[in-house]
Amino acid sequence: MALRTIRLDGDEILNKKSKKVKDINEKIKTLVDDMLDTMYEANGVGLAAPQVGMLKRIFVVDVSEERDQAMVFINPEIEETEGEQIGAEGCLSVPGKQGEVARPQRIKIKALDINGDEFEMEAKDFLARAICHENDHLNGILYTSKAKEVFEVWK
Ligand SMILES: [Zn+2]
Repeated sequence: MALRTIRLDGDEILNKKSKKVKDINEKIKTLVDDMLDTMYEANGVGLAAPQVGMLKRIFVVDVSEERDQAMVFINPEIEETEGEQIGAEGCLSVPGKQGEVARPQRIKIKALDINGDEFEMEAKDFLARAICHENDHLNGILYTSKAKEVFEVWK
């Protein structure tokens, strides 16, 4: 298990656009493993590669209670969105804060898995929110720029 340092708001890498992964080689697989370890250690529901300083189009998500439903998205593309939900959101790169953000209620997304196989899935509710949040990171966007208001929360 290897943890990577989570970059915090103010680090300019978080505002940069990530590049597509051309080859899912051992380095990329190690990065994904480390991202999962780092996400679980920090008790987050998602983590994108730029948050650990790598400008690659990769994110991981696990919204399950049991913390055993890891999903890996490489070169993701959100193909369809539908509806709207407004809810509280936080980010491992913006510790101690939350904000209300509008996101689609449902999405359809395609991506590559860790073996390089393309998959397509639909997500709704909180999973759709988590995926949209992480996908924004790949375009250098933090939720704080979309939130109506960002407030301090007790940790
Ligand atoms: Zn985030």
